[in-house]
Amino acid sequence: MRKKHIYIDLDDVVSKTTDTYPRIVEQEFGKQVGFEQIVTFDLRASFGLTENEFHYFFDLIHQPDFLLGFEPVEGSVEALKEWAGEGHCIEIVTGRPTSALEVSLEWMEKHKVPFDSFTMVDKYNRPGNDPGLAISKEALSQRTYDLAVEDSREMALFLANTMGVTVALYDRPWNARPITHEKVVRCASWQNIGQQMPGIGKAREPASAVRVSSS
Ligand SMILES: [Mg+2]
Repeated sequence: MRKKHIYIDLDDVVSKTTDTYPRIVEQEFGKQVGFEQIVTFDLRASFGLTENEFHYFFDLIHQPDFLLGFEPVEGSVEALKEWAGEGHCIEIVTGRPTSALEVSLEWMEKHKVPFDSFTMVDKYNRPGNDPGLAISKEALSQRTYDLAVEDSREMALFLANTMGVTVALYDRPWNARPITHEKVVRCASWQNIGQQMPGIGKAREPASAVRVSSS
């Protein structure tokens, strides 16, 4: 099997990030918004925050101690270890602000996330990024990946359309709107990614092909 270069997003793919937000929003602003109600990637809109509230919230959720406290997404570390063990190249590509570089690397070490490269990309045109630490989406598009795992609908379409990459789109409430693209495959879990991506991970029987013995 040829070695594959696999793009792996960090937040909400490997790190359970947004799961922690409803509690913060309730604590800081007294608003009750459940995880399933986070139906847009724009957190201002999902949580009904004013511009000032959002800036306060954004700073809070990017504090090093807060980022370090995230749990890994179920099955993510195990799957990445399996792929790395099979000789594939694990390339973490995150849109986190560049101020989060060190703590992100520390988090991956803490949870023993295997990776060959770590890239910060200005995925969302955020102000304040250090251009010496984050590359542009255009620079990203010059790279070659065999597969990507993302939860951002916008990035999934960029990877599929501009870069021709097959994308496992990790099911999240904010990407639930139907998406029809031959290179974008919806996946409900890490186990499901392993099942749907041929040539990655152990050869598994697709769920639809499970035999039911007749009695
Ligand atoms: Mg993400």
